[in-house]
Amino acid sequence: MGGHVYTNFKVNRFSVNKTLRRGSEQYNVVTEAAGKPALTSQHVIACCGLYSDRVAVLSGCSPEPRIVPFRGEYLLLRPEKSHLVRGNIYPVPDPQFPFLGVHFTPRMDGEVWLGPNAVLALAREGYSATDFNWEDFKEILRFRGLRKLVMRYWRLGTQEALRSLLLAAQVRQLQRFVPELQPSDVTRGPTGVRAQAMDTDGRLIEDFVFAQGEGEMGRRILHVRNAPSPAATSSLAIAEMVADKARDTFGWTTQ
Ligand SMILES: Cc1cc2nc3c(=O)[nH]c(=O)nc-3n(C[C@H](O)[C@H](O)[C@H](O)COP(=O)(O)OP(=O)(O)OC[C@H]3O[C@@H](n4cnc5c(N)ncnc54)[C@H](O)[C@@H]3O)c2cc1C
Repeated sequence: MGGHVYTNFKVNRFSVNKTLRRGSEQYNVVTEAAGKPALTSQHVIACCGLYSDRVAVLSGCSPEPRIVPFRGEYLLLRPEKSHLVRGNIYPVPDPQFPFLGVHFTPRMDGEVWLGPNAVLALAREGYSATDFNWEDFKEILRFRGLRKLVMRYWRLGTQEALRSLLLAAQVRQLQRFVPELQPSDVTRGPTGVRAQAMDTDGRLIEDFVFAQGEGEMGRRILHVRNAPSPAATSSLAIAEMVADKARDTFGWTTQ
């Protein structure tokens, strides 16, 4: 349909410009990224994951809900032990912490991933335990919501952090599902960072959050500030929902 994908285009500013078209005023959104030609469009839909709160602020939205980064680390089952896991194994989720609870995932390429855990990351893109970003860290410390969450669940958080450091402790948790599993059967695997939306009371947001800012600019930009997991598995259905939302919000009449 004539779309373009611009990579390495880190949006750092939105503005609106006004033009006269057939005698009537028309507003357009100008989207800018450092060192790149600006893009002009009638509307913008922003789905910025780990940065969705910061990008929403650019068009006058509230900074809340904030995104708090939680690293999710996987272990890999050694290939010679892959017979231990013949299908997906999932724990019954705890409704209070739906993202906690490690699972066993045999993948198309034959690898078996065990995890992920959930450990507070010290950088938005803190994919490794040593990744640290001072600006992100300051923001995390200052956020009242996270302080409240930590006060409430420090014990659980400490256990999760210890398990992240000690392979044997992580394996002990996995043995609840596969008792034969031994620490020597696993190696450290890949990690991801969850974009956990949180309110100022430290509540984890579990539903979709859409937002618009103020004025002509705000009216033309729709932010998807939270897409609860499993948002990758459900991405096509979510895309339809976002398109419907945009149609209603912007008054589009065509498909
Ligand atoms: C460890 C882990 C395990 C998971 N397991 C599962 C699972 O089993 N099943 C499942 O369905 N989901 C899972 N998820 C969740 C899933 O990955 C996310 O829900 C999904 O990726 C969210 O998609 P998104 O498009 O909202 O955000 P993202 O995929 O994060 O995309 C956001 C995009 O916005 C871009 N962006 C950010 N800021 C800017 C900016 N300023 N300018 C321009 N672009 C910007 C980013 O580069 C990125 O491409 C898991 C996540 C983690 C971390």
